Amino acid sequence: MSVQPAPLRHADICECHACESHELVAATPASELELEQSGRLDPTGTISYQRDLARFLRGRINSLNADLRKRIVEDDVFGLGDSDAEWRGPREAQLMRLDSWFDNAENRLVHDRVDSDEVRSILETAAKSGIIDGHADLREFDIPTDDAADVLEQDAVQEQIDSVHENVRDRVGTAIEDYRSDVRRLVSAGLASNVARRTLAKDITERATVYNSHVTAQASGEVVNQYSTTQLTSYDRVDAEIELETEVEYVDAGDSRVCQRCLELSAQEWTLEKAQAQNPIPVHGYCRCRFRVKDARSLF
Ligand SMILES: [Zn+2]
Ligand SMILES: [Zn+2]
Repeated sequence: MSVQPAPLRHADICECHACESHELVAATPASELELEQSGRLDPTGTISYQRDLARFLRGRINSLNADLRKRIVEDDVFGLGDSDAEWRGPREAQLMRLDSWFDNAENRLVHDRVDSDEVRSILETAAKSGIIDGHADLREFDIPTDDAADVLEQDAVQEQIDSVHENVRDRVGTAIEDYRSDVRRLVSAGLASNVARRTLAKDITERATVYNSHVTAQASGEVVNQYSTTQLTSYDRVDAEIELETEVEYVDAGDSRVCQRCLELSAQEWTLEKAQAQNPIPVHGYCRCRFRVKDARSLF
């Protein structure tokens, strides 16, 4: 028997971390939810970067979970089988060993990797594709554009990438903190009831699955945000010599899956200033909205 029921089977009022994050994911309209739905339109053209980042972040959680699973099942660190416990002692002492394992493993397997250029380069690719699409929009109105690579190097754009990278770090940090707190609770309850090793490992893995779906939605949102933020910047940073007047519109994906919130935004009138100030995209995880140039002319 499981120490904890599966997250999906929890009561509506359950307040455990896993269920809270489930609610966050559930807050995304089901119609727009999955990256892998067939025929799903991808107006920002960033789906492969969304997948890359999501896969990378899930890999971090999975490696942490796999390491812990191995400790519990194969090494039997808590002595739930017949073996001598490596993390021996009363329950509080065992939980302290778990904490120090987390302190180390979390940094090594998750945080250090999320800090790295691997994440930044995915965001940079999304930013560059925002610039390329933004420039294509402008050229439709005969506005000459710079090389996308040059715009990408501008301080303002590099700072946007740093800031999205920081958001990714924060989101993963929260997911791992919640996972860790769930694990601690499961281990504590499991030790009290002398649960089977595999059952404990299975319950812990269930938690990892919940946070995986959480970071997948967040990775999607952060990539789309990177694309959108940098695209808006590319609309008014063409060339220092040119002063542009750019009118933008908010475009939803245009299919039957678009949710009410996104429809409301695409019905509004937008200016470039309002778009940059509110920076509304993503409206939710898996949002497919984008801005587009409605009119542009150079002022001399
Ligand atoms: Zn929507
Ligand atoms: Zn949307």
